[in-house]
Amino acid sequence: METQLLAKESARAAIVEMGHTLIAKNLVAGSWGNISCRIDEQSIAITPSGRGYELLEPEDVVLIDREGAVLEGKRIPSSELKVHTAIYNAYPEAGAVIHTHSIYASALSAMHQDVPAIIEDIVQIIGGRVYCAEYALCGTQELADKTVAALRGRKAALLANHGAVCWGKNLQEALLVAEILEKAAQIAVICAGTGGKVYELSTEDADIMHDFYEKHYSKRQQGEE
Ligand SMILES: [Zn+2]
Repeated sequence: METQLLAKESARAAIVEMGHTLIAKNLVAGSWGNISCRIDEQSIAITPSGRGYELLEPEDVVLIDREGAVLEGKRIPSSELKVHTAIYNAYPEAGAVIHTHSIYASALSAMHQDVPAIIEDIVQIIGGRVYCAEYALCGTQELADKTVAALRGRKAALLANHGAVCWGKNLQEALLVAEILEKAAQIAVICAGTGGKVYELSTEDADIMHDFYEKHYSKRQQGEE
């Protein structure tokens, strides 16, 4: 799947639609969490700060540059814009970033635990174990730096005592990552609750499965293969 960028107005509309999807899928509540997608090399569309997804209109979506400066928009950009710009700057193939406060990912983040690579879909889509970033205050550059440090080549990281952040080549892939991450976190919590031993997939098998997804399966889903 190649990075597929949307034109400015399409990106604004797609972000509003994704906000409704995140609410419907119970991945965020109220105005928490945030969404962005890259428009071109220099500009990013991002949700505004403190605006509920139900009320969000395309013109509320703010355009920022890769350093986080506002290029266009009447609202203040998301308070977590540093996490978003840091991910785009660290992963040039990233086309979209979704930050969720989903319940099971947040539960593991409250214990500063990783999401283990115990089910095949998490390794296929995300690449393996998803690491929990060290705690930092929300909205800070420190949180952005610790998030990038925790990604370690994955498409997701947990934010300690906070939630999760996911990226994809486009908004649809970032959503898929968020859903698979939340499912894996839920399974990890269920397993922990039973007290049984959990068997993590080997790094070798995880690499094979993730490689296959990146090379073939994601392209089939896009109708490219
Ligand atoms: Zn948050």
